[in-house]
Amino acid sequence: MPLKQIVFLFAVGFFYLGLSYAEIVDTSGPNVIYITIDGVRYEDFFSNRPDPRLSKNDSAQLMPYFWSELAPKGVLFGDVRLNQRMEISNTTGISYPAYLSMFNGLFTKTCESNDYVSSCPRNTVETFPERLVNEKSIAKRSVAVFSSWKRIEDAVESVQGKITVNAGAVEFVDPFFPDAHSEVNQNQRDRLGSNPSDISERPDDITFKHGLIYLKNHQPRFMYLYFTDSDTHAHQGRYDLVVKDLRTYDKWLKIIIDMLGKMGTYGEQTSIVLTTDHGRGIGAEWIHHGRGLQAASFENSKRVWGFVYGPNTPALGSVIHPLYGHINLRPTMEKLLGLELLPFEAPPMKECLLF
Ligand SMILES: [Zn+2]
Repeated sequence: MPLKQIVFLFAVGFFYLGLSYAEIVDTSGPNVIYITIDGVRYEDFFSNRPDPRLSKNDSAQLMPYFWSELAPKGVLFGDVRLNQRMEISNTTGISYPAYLSMFNGLFTKTCESNDYVSSCPRNTVETFPERLVNEKSIAKRSVAVFSSWKRIEDAVESVQGKITVNAGAVEFVDPFFPDAHSEVNQNQRDRLGSNPSDISERPDDITFKHGLIYLKNHQPRFMYLYFTDSDTHAHQGRYDLVVKDLRTYDKWLKIIIDMLGKMGTYGEQTSIVLTTDHGRGIGAEWIHHGRGLQAASFENSKRVWGFVYGPNTPALGSVIHPLYGHINLRPTMEKLLGLELLPFEAPPMKECLLF
């Protein structure tokens, strides 16, 4: 073999060794997959049937897999049937302030908008996914966010680029698996155009597909999936589509759990946390949420719910618990992820923790 070729082969060998070394990440867990479905009413979530006032001919279950397979194996918070209450930790009952509080663990006092205005900037507090990178030295690629709504990128990171974030109608190219997301990107291009920078939301199925591929390729220690079709369709007054969305989310939950079941130790070490950012108004105001509504509707839209499932969570179903809010989610997930709680934080939701 000519010397040139040998040198070349050595170079290639070192390149691959270097690459695979860089790719070694700790996937032993514990891991959390956090999922939010935007603006899903407790009325729909807990009844598991379409609201007869809004749906005349459809009484089939909304989330049959969740209620038969998952709910009994985890812990449910805010179950109205047991008079339990979980609520928002902000003053307005709209989305962005809620996501801020979920990720920084603080009651959102000043931000009262979904827009990038001076009172609603990027999160100013180190978020718990960022703590995984900063304190646990977990690789950036192992802490990932896939979101249908662009604004979420400001809630999940106080320092842009600290974790892996793909939000809004932005294509995703994985540097470790450059072709893995090509088909999903193409699908988005076909539906939204090649440069949809003026679109702040993409359809949830694109987000879900990205997340699923990423889960398989990276076994992330933390992954957040943000879905919004449920809220978008409610604002359009399309209850028929909200019903469809909930059934779709239910199927996606099954797909994720089935995949975890095939992922060995990684799957066994992974918890699922599911919640919503706000409820909705009552009567004809069901399509809206927030402070602009009649007092009773605003009160109703403060009400949310939560679910936790995994190896460190008892199989209790709905539990009796103190009043919880979005601020209790961060410490709960930190506990599940093995992070120490910080002095400013609210208590974790202890009913779902086995330690
Ligand atoms: Zn929302």
